[in-house]
Amino acid sequence: MSRIAYVNGRFLRHSYATVHIEDRGYQFADGVYEVIVVYNGMMIDEVMHLDRLDCSLRELCIRQPVSRAALRSIIREIIRLNKIKCGLIYLQVTRGVAKREHPFPNKAQPSIVLTAKPITMPSQKTIEAGVKVITIEDIRWKRRDIKSLALLPNIIGRQKAKEQGAFEAWQVDENGKITEGTSSNAWIVTQSGALITRTANHDILNGTTRLSILKLAKRLGIKYTERSFSIEEAKAAREAFISSATTFVTPVTQIDDVLIGDGRAGILSLGLRGSYIEYANQQGGTI
Ligand code: PLP
Repeated sequence: MSRIAYVNGRFLRHSYATVHIEDRGYQFADGVYEVIVVYNGMMIDEVMHLDRLDCSLRELCIRQPVSRAALRSIIREIIRLNKIKCGLIYLQVTRGVAKREHPFPNKAQPSIVLTAKPITMPSQKTIEAGVKVITIEDIRWKRRDIKSLALLPNIIGRQKAKEQGAFEAWQVDENGKITEGTSSNAWIVTQSGALITRTANHDILNGTTRLSILKLAKRLGIKYTERSFSIEEAKAAREAFISSATTFVTPVTQIDDVLIGDGRAGILSLGLRGSYIEYANQQGGTI
């Protein structure tokens, strides 16, 4: 089956889907994106993703390319055309095509592109083994709350992780505190059992999964604190995990050369993953 993409009003075969060479996304990374997961035929947290897209666009003064209602229909159509049951929707909006000059163009029409692809969920065995993360300096700009296309520091960090046999890289600020992963939020469970994740401000992307986990924790009576934590505190933690739309809750069992807890996924992390999957399965009727 051929993949279908959506580009500025048209559904096209993936291999024929192109944008102009003077699109500002291509030349300046002048745009934003979202990744929405479809799980067992249901979109997870669609509204939160679309709200965050609106925020990112507003912060960068990029016009909405289409109305919310139209966008929801396009998303459903791309899921249908690509027959996605478990997969992800990539949605990108840029300031549009214009002569290459740094200031915003007066009249550019924002460009919108959507693609979809199936994903395979990791086995329970993989989840129970957990993943390794490395720590790297956070060299990004100061508006990480905007889901910008400009991902060079993130991809360099992720490449370093790959070269060191790790799944993710946790970025560390000038005070030795962990901000977040290159495409996920960072969490620890302290030796006294407290669930900790960094406060969402300009320093991190406020993950949709992060927000859902906080809601679930509250519902389950799990105490949590939103605050920064250092590399040392993370390495001494009882448990650690990452969260993102595509990884849900994924236990971290090694940070650099240090094993976390007993080197196996922690009970709270596994419990939260289970609750998150239950939550995802309850989003019936959203497509
Ligand atoms: N932090 C960064 C830098 C990300 O790129 C992402 C997701 O791509 C996240 C956190 C997690 O966000 P979400 O849970 O909405 O996927």
